Formats: sequence, C-alpha cells, structure tokens
Amino acid sequence: MPTKRDRNMDRAPRKFEMDPNRSVERPARNTDPYVLDEGMPEPSLCTVCHAIYRNKRWYLKEREYVEIEEGEEANHVVCPACQKIDQLYPEGIVTLRGDYLWQHEEEILNILRNTENSAMAKNPLGRIMSIKPEGDALIVETTEEKLAEHIGRALHKSHHGELNIDWSDNHSFCRVSWERD
Ligand SMILES: [Zn+2]
Repeated sequence: MPTKRDRNMDRAPRKFEMDPNRSVERPARNTDPYVLDEGMPEPSLCTVCHAIYRNKRWYLKEREYVEIEEGEEANHVVCPACQKIDQLYPEGIVTLRGDYLWQHEEEILNILRNTENSAMAKNPLGRIMSIKPEGDALIVETTEEKLAEHIGRALHKSHHGELNIDWSDNHSFCRVSWERD
C-alpha cells in the first residue's frame, strides 16, 4: 500500500513541462511558485496594490480598479508581487559597492526608482522589495529576476563601473553586482 507521502510525491507532471510554446531559453515564469499555472478567475483584483488581472495578465489602472469594484463581481486576491513582498521572497538581488556609490547615492537611488517605474509600466509584478545598506554595500531586492537585470544595466549605462549578471541554472533567480570606486 502506498503511503500518503508516496502518493504526494507521485503527482502528475506540471502543465508547463508539456507546453510547446515555452521558450527553451527562459523557462522562468513557471518556476515562480507565486504564479499559478491555471491562472485565476477574471477579473481578479489585488487588494494591496490594486493591480487588475484580466485577459491573463496583470496591469495597474486605478480608475478601472474603482469601476470594477463598484460595478462587477470581482475576485479579490493578493497578487504575486505583493505576496513576495509580504513573505520576503526576492527573485533578484542587486549588490552595489564602491566609494562612487556613496558619493552619488541620491542619483543612484533615483535610477533604482526610475527603472522600477518604467519596468512596472510593462510588468506591474516586477518591484523593488527593499533597498538596504549592508556593510559597505547597498542591497536591492526585487520581486522578479528581470528587474534586477534592468537595474544593473541602467546603472552601468549611466554611471559605468563594473557590472556582473548571474542567472541561476533555471533562470529563476538573478544575482547582479555593480561596483565603482
Ligand atoms: Zn498586489
């Protein structure tokens, strides 16, 4: 007789493993435990950040959020980004170092926020979770791996320095370091 544990370990393969449309290069989306394979009822509303889920995508549009709240039957949820922020689950980490960083801290913090804002226009689930000093470094955590890469590239573009971008094997985590002395 199989035990309960055996049965759990013998689950059917996840849907994404059979999806022919998945890109081989970046199988990242479905390695994200906060994004459901099967989607969810539409419209869904994030009660924390007011993101709307409709037509299989998330977006931010406050006026539409209010209209849906007033006029439609909506599903209320906490979106994947807000869950990651709440549970401290980053998928990207950017480590900034060097004297130059502290001499230009204000400008660099502006770049972080501007990069987040422009990335959120395309993907509202990519957010900066935290920015905190750690020793002589500044650590930035992001909810999505791609945003960490965008931040690294934006810093390098406007302030040069040395940039390193490291993806974990299955592209589900991105570790970026930027340094300028
Ligand atoms: Zn949210």
